[in-house]
Amino acid sequence: MAKDDYIACIGLEVHVQLKTNSKMFCGCAVQFGEPPNTLTCPTCLGLPGALPVLNKGAIERTILAGQLLGCETPPVVKWDRKNYFYPDMPKNYQISQFDLPLCIGGGVPLYDLAYPKDAQNEIENPGKSVELTRIHLEEDVAKSTHHSGGYTTIDFNRAGTPLMEIVSEPDIDSPEEAAAYLNSLRQILVYSGVSDADMEKGQMRCDVNISVRPKTQEELGTKIELKNLNSVSAVRRSIHYEIDRQIGELDAGNTITQATWRWNDDIGQTEIMRTKEDAHDYRYFPDPDLLPVQTGELLAAVQQDLPELPHEKTARFEKEYQVTHYDASVLASDKSLADFYEKAASGNKSPKKVANWVINNFLGELKEQELELSECGLAPEKIGALVNLIEAGTISNNQAKEVFSELFANPEGDPAAIAKEKGFEPADSSEVEGFIDQAIADNPGPAGEVTEGNDKAANFLTGQVMKLSRGKANPKQVTELILQKLRG
Ligand code: ZN
Ligand code: MN
Repeated sequence: MAKDDYIACIGLEVHVQLKTNSKMFCGCAVQFGEPPNTLTCPTCLGLPGALPVLNKGAIERTILAGQLLGCETPPVVKWDRKNYFYPDMPKNYQISQFDLPLCIGGGVPLYDLAYPKDAQNEIENPGKSVELTRIHLEEDVAKSTHHSGGYTTIDFNRAGTPLMEIVSEPDIDSPEEAAAYLNSLRQILVYSGVSDADMEKGQMRCDVNISVRPKTQEELGTKIELKNLNSVSAVRRSIHYEIDRQIGELDAGNTITQATWRWNDDIGQTEIMRTKEDAHDYRYFPDPDLLPVQTGELLAAVQQDLPELPHEKTARFEKEYQVTHYDASVLASDKSLADFYEKAASGNKSPKKVANWVINNFLGELKEQELELSECGLAPEKIGALVNLIEAGTISNNQAKEVFSELFANPEGDPAAIAKEKGFEPADSSEVEGFIDQAIADNPGPAGEVTEGNDKAANFLTGQVMKLSRGKANPKQVTELILQKLRG
């Protein structure tokens, strides 16, 4: 059968480290990059007899994430032990949530700009929201490092970090949607301060479930799980590879066996790890050390103060500042950029023009100099002031670009002062009148065409006046004056 005769079903399980000061069940600090095994205590080392104490902030952040993604929070949630042996988890169980998680249902909206760049022009399901099954809270395990000498070291600094697991339905149709899902989810979590969700730092880790079936078949195909993917591009590439591999197997008449595979990024292939344990193998049972939690009060407190999400900000920018949907989405895609823009546009007569300057000139310059927004000292108000100079006719657009370059290099400077220093002052109006008369006299042909209604010829004359004024005249005003003179 052709590739088109099959459909793929993809579900993602995403583990996200929460942005809390302390660990999930003890008071040890959550910090990245400290010397190994310095952020530990009997509880997070799993020593016998040590008792867990719940982290309220972690529960609140998980409920917040659920509220932002449209989930329900049950009135009572509880904690369960997930039993398995692994050297990085000496208790031999992970405290997690089995049948009463903090969040149920909900969905992740897929933002257009969250798709991979090369896929943004052919989004198959615009406006799609991927359904979620649940979000539960658990503890992270320690980190093992396998060394080349054939030995392994374990660092318990990470053990006990609050970990939120977000499980989607098999509702994702393509590798591109999977990428958009991760990027959109990350945006929402960063926006709301729930997590920094940096995949490179391991703060967001992803397991992928993929099955393939002929279009004519109702029930889902056998799923393969891919473990611990650590970048969005690896997720996308591994799903492409796995869909093709599974279709190849089915086409050859083979069956797919449920198993856990891993993605080998170096060779761009999936490799089998182990056949899959079923959920009951973990022998979940309620943790006798922890009481269930009533969520009512926590939920009410979270609901009082919900942050604005990227798509809500996009809609507000379109309405409040009259910018296009595309520009609004670019500005809203990053919270610090959105804040920067709002400061620049605040009180400005032309917020739309400010948006153009922020997106084209400011972001362009950041990119060229390989700088992050946080590394650039330019105050947003100065871009607003620069746009005001253009709007008032004090400087031309091209002069503004020169002022901007100077400003970007010396963020302490003042746009009006820089313009003055460079001799960018509006041309004297009687002088401009003289230039217009001269341009008309020198170019009788084009001038005649303007009289007959040719606007292009007017642009030509404006260009001549700009040359005569050495760029000081305001082109918009010059064109208006030319039209007045020649058409009356
Ligand atoms: Zn501890
Ligand atoms: Mn988990």
